[in-house]
Amino acid sequence: MPYAEVSVNSPSGIKPTFSYHIPEGMEVQPGQAVWVPFGRQLLQGIVISTGDSPEYEQTRDIAGIVDPPVILALSSLQLGKWLSAYYRCPLFQSLALMLPPGFGRSNFCTLVANPDVDIICSESLSSDERELFEKITACGLLELKNAEKILGKQRAQRAVSSLARRNLIFRNFHLSPARISPKMEVFIELAVDHETAGKEAAKLAARSPKQAMILYYLEKVKTSVSWREVSQATSSSISSRKALEDKGLVAVNKREIIRRPIPVSTQPPGPPLKPNNMQQRALDEITSSLKCNSSHNFLLHGVTGSGKTEVYLQALDQAIRLGKKAIVLVPEISLTPQIINRFTARFPNQVAVLHSTLSLGERFDQWREIKEGKYNVVIGARSALFAPQPDLGLVVMDEEHEWSYKQDTSPRYHTRTAAQELCRINNATLVLGSATPDVETYYKASTGEYRILKLSERITQGRASSLPEVEVVDLREELKTGNRSIFSRALQTEIRTALDRKDQVILFLNRRGGATFVQCRSCGYVAVCRRCRITLSYHPQEEKLVCHHCNLRQPIPGICPQCLSKRIKYLGLGTQGVEIEITSLFPKARILRWDSDTTRNKGSHGTFLKRFIDGKADILIGTQMIAKGMDFPGVSLVGVINADIGINLPDFRAGEHAFSLLCQVAGRAGRGDTTGKVIIQSYFPDHYAIQAAANHDYEGFFNTEIAYRRSLKQPPFSRLARLIFSHTNDDFCRREALRLKMELSENCGRIGIAGLTLIGPVPAFYHRLRGRYRWSIIIKGPDPAVLLEATKIPPRWKVDIDPLGLD
Ligand code: ADP
Ligand code: ZN
Ligand code: ZN
Repeated sequence: MPYAEVSVNSPSGIKPTFSYHIPEGMEVQPGQAVWVPFGRQLLQGIVISTGDSPEYEQTRDIAGIVDPPVILALSSLQLGKWLSAYYRCPLFQSLALMLPPGFGRSNFCTLVANPDVDIICSESLSSDERELFEKITACGLLELKNAEKILGKQRAQRAVSSLARRNLIFRNFHLSPARISPKMEVFIELAVDHETAGKEAAKLAARSPKQAMILYYLEKVKTSVSWREVSQATSSSISSRKALEDKGLVAVNKREIIRRPIPVSTQPPGPPLKPNNMQQRALDEITSSLKCNSSHNFLLHGVTGSGKTEVYLQALDQAIRLGKKAIVLVPEISLTPQIINRFTARFPNQVAVLHSTLSLGERFDQWREIKEGKYNVVIGARSALFAPQPDLGLVVMDEEHEWSYKQDTSPRYHTRTAAQELCRINNATLVLGSATPDVETYYKASTGEYRILKLSERITQGRASSLPEVEVVDLREELKTGNRSIFSRALQTEIRTALDRKDQVILFLNRRGGATFVQCRSCGYVAVCRRCRITLSYHPQEEKLVCHHCNLRQPIPGICPQCLSKRIKYLGLGTQGVEIEITSLFPKARILRWDSDTTRNKGSHGTFLKRFIDGKADILIGTQMIAKGMDFPGVSLVGVINADIGINLPDFRAGEHAFSLLCQVAGRAGRGDTTGKVIIQSYFPDHYAIQAAANHDYEGFFNTEIAYRRSLKQPPFSRLARLIFSHTNDDFCRREALRLKMELSENCGRIGIAGLTLIGPVPAFYHRLRGRYRWSIIIKGPDPAVLLEATKIPPRWKVDIDPLGLD
């Protein structure tokens, strides 16, 4: 099979693959990483298939095989093709998700003069060409990069092309050295028997004491040891080693060292707990799916502390017993030692943890070890899904509702969607777990696409803590009674009580989206678009309120249109503001503030939280980061300062997001021996998301939410594609958005797609980002992909299939 279809790592790759000839003697297989000539460059590519004839007549030879060899599994190729079709991104971009870290290697170009040319008619050259040519002949060789430094990129390239066309110079391509490669270490051992070594050492002792010491050392350890160890122990240098090598007394060889990021677990293996009835039922279903070797999807629905993690652990154990391997996905933020330890302790030395903080070299080694099948379990954030885990039988996705599972750069995949496809390809079992499942997931569970497994109670084991009691405080009432503090009377009382009892308190402030809407502090009125009923967003650049659905613009009201109060203002309160107020109310309390300002230093999350868990502070003030996956046994009170910030975001998922966040925050209270209490402050105490969260009522929330989605034809009753264009010129951006909208509209009519709505163009939620203005168009309907297929979307547009959140 002398031909190969190759997906090439080039942004200009319009086609998914290009045909190449496989030169005589070279062996390549599908999935293999190769070097191919592409235009004037040498680029990496992945062989997708091989065959007897090329898809295109004119083929060039594959230049070489990437070394060390990288071969993607066929299932990875399949997933890559699916991702690229579904998320409408270049094939290589999808495949790149599955390549080992640090794979992309650049090449560089040198210029040399044609030796056969001795006299040139310099009149025929431009001044740039003459300058370059003289430089090249003078130096014998010039890097293109340096030529570009002299003349500037464009002029240099023009001159080089012209010189090359006239055969005055040649261009040669070279590969940059690999950024990472296996780590090699030098080992040394005796090349002679011990007796000889002893005698030689004695002879050398006077004139070359270092060499003698090395021989003595090797004689003592009796095996091959690393040179690093020997040189440190004897404080000797390489020259001594070389001298011994030359005398034939020692032998030196290089061996690969595996970079191991996690210190091998010293914890004793945690024994499995005896499952309760509900856990057992869930495990039985998962086990029978694992045994039948066909793909099944499960949703494990249970409140925090209901024993989901224990189910994951025992399901993993079952998979391993059946000779299968597994991937466990957790949200980025919960990749904490607390959680990882539960897995590494249960499966000692069988778990690979994919931390984003690992060095490139560490990740490279880990990738190869995983591919060799060294780990039964791979655990990590979303990208762990693409780890080359062989014999995949089980994928667990914890906190499946988390938005961080959606990748925000191309390919903009959702981990859940990709995981479902990966499991389908591998006939593997997928277990999604959550206390507050994504509305779309739960809808799929209700229609039977996912099997639902319920854990309906917290495991209390004789402790007091069942679900905490939640009280919703109406902030409008507070102002009426003259309380101007951001803390309601009820919250103040509860904080005092908790502090008196030496319990800990968490104060939570949702800051997603920041101060982007206008609310009256007297009556709670929020400025809403009169046409779309979506919260208007405050745009500081133009001092206007803007609707992100229909582009309605209006000035900021000076007085509240509802109660005529002048106390209408931006909700600009940050964690710092909360800290100042709480200090004045409770001067003796020890306060810890946790937000992105205070935890900017990498790795400080752990130490920060440890201080709180160890009781070094009484009150923790934080944003959504504290809501995730942490156990705070000493906390008996959680206060939510203003629940409205979440519900008022201009996003149809705002209610869902607020609900799940409130549930998670509430779940932080009373996980130890104390019964928890939660206080939610709001101007909309009757809002269904707040009420349902207060009653720990997922089903209630779901029923309201799904009815609302159905009536507005929002997902899961339609699908969305979001197109965003950005440019430094706002007007140009708007005009390009209008143009594409027109084209989409026309195509829609021409091919007669029913039920498709085009929304926009409107300024994106973040209208200006990093100096560029952004406009968006949303396609909504049963299948937006059909329209995208029929329209040429210019590459400058960002296409987001199934978008999540604001953009
Ligand atoms: P979740 O993942 O749903 O938050 P966990 O699996 O962390 O719940 O369980 C909560 C607590 O209950 C943990 O301390 C865990 O060790 C304990 N637990 C879980 N299952 C059992 C069981 N079957 N018997 C006893 N304790 C259990
Ligand atoms: Zn008002
Ligand atoms: Zn509107």
